[in-house]
Amino acid sequence: MHIKELRVDGFKSFGEPTTVPFYEGFTTVSGPNGSGKSNLIDSILFALGLARTRGMRARRLPDLLYDPPEGDGSVNEASVEVVLDNSDRKVTEEEIRSACGEVTEPDEVVVKRRIKRTSNDYYSYYYLNGRSVNLSDVQDLLESAGVTPEGYNVVMQGDVTDIINMSGTERRGIIEETAGTAKFDEKKEEAREE
Ligand code: ATP
Ligand code: MG
Repeated sequence: MHIKELRVDGFKSFGEPTTVPFYEGFTTVSGPNGSGKSNLIDSILFALGLARTRGMRARRLPDLLYDPPEGDGSVNEASVEVVLDNSDRKVTEEEIRSACGEVTEPDEVVVKRRIKRTSNDYYSYYYLNGRSVNLSDVQDLLESAGVTPEGYNVVMQGDVTDIINMSGTERRGIIEETAGTAKFDEKKEEAREE
């Protein structure tokens, strides 16, 4: 499973609806300092519910709303949509069905998050394939594809230094976690204890 497309609107520096294609294997985003490269990563963390506000370099959720450099205040709504290619069926049709009802296009899973600000409050909504869901539904679905907040699907700048400084055994642990074999070791250990 991989990200196929990212649609960002009203999030951080993305004041205009922006669509970014991602390719299987490798996609590089380049641009001058402050042009929004890291904001794109933040938008993925936001939509997939993988980070708290601090992890997205914001104090509170409304700080993520596009605030034009010159202008009268920020927008009141932001949305980020992550289109996942599921042609390898990492997430089964059954899992999609239990998370969001019917399955029309099993080759694709679309996760969307929206924040909306009113005069005195703000709200956050998650969607799976256009259906309103809870964060836990998104998390369950992503977990079956091996994507978790604790995982190494997103390796931040600080993580790189941590990984370099790890012992060989610790680093091997990350590879096992990423490859999805760690859970089998846990099961083996459980079976042995029984
Ligand atoms: P670098 O190469 O330095 O890492 P970058 O391309 O990763 O740069 P980002 O950190 O993604 O840059 O973007 C920083 C820019 O985003 C800053 O100019 C900042 O003003 C802008 N920005 C952050 N939050 C908002 C917001 N809510 N509204 C508008 N602009 C924002
Ligand atoms: Mg950056």
